[in-house]
Amino acid sequence: MTDDSRAPLFAPIRSLSGVTAERERQLERLGLTRTSDLLFFFPRDYRPRPRFTPIADLQFDVEQTTYGRLVGFRTSNFSRGAAATAVFEDDAGDQVRAVWFNMPGWMFRQFQLDRRALITAKPGKDKRGHLQISHPALVWLDDDDDLPFEGTDGVTTPALETPPEDDTLFPVYPLTEGLKQHQIHRLMKEALETLPDLVDDVFPDDYRAAHNLLPIAEALRKIHLPKNDAEAALARRRFIYQEFLLLQLALAIRRQQHEINLQAPMIRPGEDILLRLRRLVPYELTGAQTRVIREITADMRRPVPMNRLLQGDVGSGKTIVAAAAILQAVAEGYQAVIMAPTEILARQHDRFLTRLFENDPIEVVPLLGGQKPKTRREILEKIESGGASIVVGTQAIICADVRFRKLGLVVIDEQHKFGVRQRARLKTGTGADPHYLVMTATPIPRSMTMTVFGDLDISVLDELPPGRQPIRTYVVTPEKKERWWEFFRRKIKEGRQGYVVVSRVGETDDGLKDIQSAYDELAAGSLAGVRLGMIHGRMTPEEKDRIMADFRSREIEVLIATSVIEVGIDVPNATLMSIENANMFGLAQLHQLRGRIGRGKYPGFCGVLLGDEDGDSPPGQETIPLVPAEGKARNAPEARLKIFADSSDGFFLAEKDFELRGPGDLFGTEQHGLCRFHIADILRDRSILEEARADAAFLIRTDPGLASDEHHRLRDQVLRRYGKALNLGDVG
Ligand code: ADP
Ligand code: MG
Repeated sequence: MTDDSRAPLFAPIRSLSGVTAERERQLERLGLTRTSDLLFFFPRDYRPRPRFTPIADLQFDVEQTTYGRLVGFRTSNFSRGAAATAVFEDDAGDQVRAVWFNMPGWMFRQFQLDRRALITAKPGKDKRGHLQISHPALVWLDDDDDLPFEGTDGVTTPALETPPEDDTLFPVYPLTEGLKQHQIHRLMKEALETLPDLVDDVFPDDYRAAHNLLPIAEALRKIHLPKNDAEAALARRRFIYQEFLLLQLALAIRRQQHEINLQAPMIRPGEDILLRLRRLVPYELTGAQTRVIREITADMRRPVPMNRLLQGDVGSGKTIVAAAAILQAVAEGYQAVIMAPTEILARQHDRFLTRLFENDPIEVVPLLGGQKPKTRREILEKIESGGASIVVGTQAIICADVRFRKLGLVVIDEQHKFGVRQRARLKTGTGADPHYLVMTATPIPRSMTMTVFGDLDISVLDELPPGRQPIRTYVVTPEKKERWWEFFRRKIKEGRQGYVVVSRVGETDDGLKDIQSAYDELAAGSLAGVRLGMIHGRMTPEEKDRIMADFRSREIEVLIATSVIEVGIDVPNATLMSIENANMFGLAQLHQLRGRIGRGKYPGFCGVLLGDEDGDSPPGQETIPLVPAEGKARNAPEARLKIFADSSDGFFLAEKDFELRGPGDLFGTEQHGLCRFHIADILRDRSILEEARADAAFLIRTDPGLASDEHHRLRDQVLRRYGKALNLGDVG
């Protein structure tokens, strides 16, 4: 088809009949400016089309909708309250009486003679046996209102006859101020007449046939005007599939481009890294750790950069897996970098790796904020000369101006804190890219690993090291607070340590406890006589480091902290945790926090405290509905925390979090748009997602770069939609 013949698709929406300047503005608010936008403005729901029964045909005791104009009404005051009677007459001249008792005053004001209304009710009979409807639902029509059903243009002659067999469902569109359903319907009707036939189908015919996809024109017509739910579902399927397929193709192409364009050093250690590692650590690796180390080893042997995501619940032992990868690179003369999201964690990694390799000629250097310029310069020189084998630091610092001599591996710990896919641009010194290992403790739902993280290989540490202590979690309601703190103090006296987590610093305005006032309050009250310390994000790295050292040496018994302790901190004697205003945190984040305790030989205890404003719990209530009915919402915070208290399964909690709060919150992926779909929903449409993923892999295998003629439209769409976001460059 020539571009000319498709021009009507791109015509401004005002070229449709009856679109005034005001209507145009309303439509624009909905993102609709061209006629084709209208085609892709899908209904958010479907309802049975309203049926109208002429007044003369109304039946007794069956719910029906009829139509009429108000020809008379009267109100009277009884001792029980006001009552009203109204008489409606339809175009055939038949009348029906409607009555209301105890009618609120505002309703009267809508009663104007001659005003038209839709009247829905189950008719009964009055004393004389006449049909009478009590308390009908009324929808008043404005003067210029068309009736909200198909067909007639006549304002006063609604189609009262039974609709034909091939009638369609009633589509419900998102609206904006001043715009009504039937007004969109009228535009839609016009747009659907000829425009769908002008839209190019991205799918070749045989592809559609093989994958149960409607042709585009048919899909467009049916998604707007389906005859039944099945037809609507089939039409929707086509668009959902298409959206998912485009993303999956983009991800597959990106993968393929990596394979072709990117080079990494082949790291093939001459010795068995697992054996060497076993000599370095006092424990046996878990089966999962061994398996994942093998997966990483296999990746690093290839001349293509490893792009692997390692997921493992808190405490599953990711650090030693990272150490294995690092050792492998270093043993073959390459440098390795490990980046952490916080200084505290970076320092912990620095300590761990330094100790791990203390008997080997492997130098570990930290690159941290607040280092003296001279120290920093010396370190940078060591990195550039190759004297330093392992560099530990925060992402911000390593990204900057570091030159490596021979960088082979980059490990990024706790990736979910960075925002996704922010690859560091590092001067590797080898002319090639480094291998990447990204680690996260936030379990990622499969639907996410197939989309946002879809271009990564995934490894999972699904086994905790043996001998882990259980953590018991309690939802501490205001009336249980006293007992919780009593328990907390007793455990401290027994020699344990703990954390008190408060929300961020300086958020006093919205009623959250400022960390200093929380500290003062605890020092004077619940934790009087306990050696307290405080740590938060506004401290300098040195201050934080000193505090952590004091905590590790038990100089500090209880650490009052913001969520900076969330990631990675490993102090085995800390077995207690009290989380204030716990409802401010997501479930996955709470799980991360809780992962700080129960790491040593004593069991852990975690109290999640409900603020007073979260509402009291009904006494003795065991099960609380997951999604509380409106009006019972004051229990929602408690219900959510109960889910958390009852589960120690990070994957389960992440899925729940995902359901309750959506993906953006969980991974900070809101902005990068990979997960923003028009009609698809990665949770609801997961099976279509799986299908599209498999199909995309096949397509790219058989037609790399989608270079063939029959796929050029698909390729165009992939590039238009994801070319920039995924940096696809020139395909094919
Ligand atoms: P995370 O996955 O949360 O980063 P870490 O790597 O910090 O977990 O490991 C948590 C703790 O478990 C550490 O104290 C570590 O020494 C210990 N650990 C790791 N692997 C094993 C193992 N196979 N057996 C026993 N303890 C282990
Ligand atoms: Mg860790």
